[in-house]
Amino acid sequence: MKETKEFVCIACPVGCNLNVEIDGDEITVTGNNCKNGLAYGREEATNPKRIVPSTVVLEGGKLKRLPVKTNDAVPKGMIFDVMKEIDRVRVKAPVKLGDIIINDVCGTGVDVVATKSIDEIDY
Ligand code: SF4
Repeated sequence: MKETKEFVCIACPVGCNLNVEIDGDEITVTGNNCKNGLAYGREEATNPKRIVPSTVVLEGGKLKRLPVKTNDAVPKGMIFDVMKEIDRVRVKAPVKLGDIIINDVCGTGVDVVATKSIDEIDY
């Protein structure tokens, strides 16, 4: 049975309108202006993924919370579990941009990393 899905490609700012037709194992993407859109359309139709941005509690830092994000996209169905694991974390300052805060979050093979450097608070 054929199924058709429509997406806006977010792989670049052009935002092409993609039409993805799924017929068994055959996936046809049209409307893409480049091969990145082809890959995006296939993935979005079969295994959509997202980067997860969030914050964690930061102790002893100049800010109370540390902004973090996954360093790669995780399956959309895992986002709630990833957010719960991120929510449990407490980090001690100082933290450097790119520091790994959670290794292999929820077994996805993706790490959660700091997106900002934050020094210790001066007393
Ligand atoms: S299909 Fe290519 S050109 Fe169009 S939005 Fe996606 S990445 Fe950009």
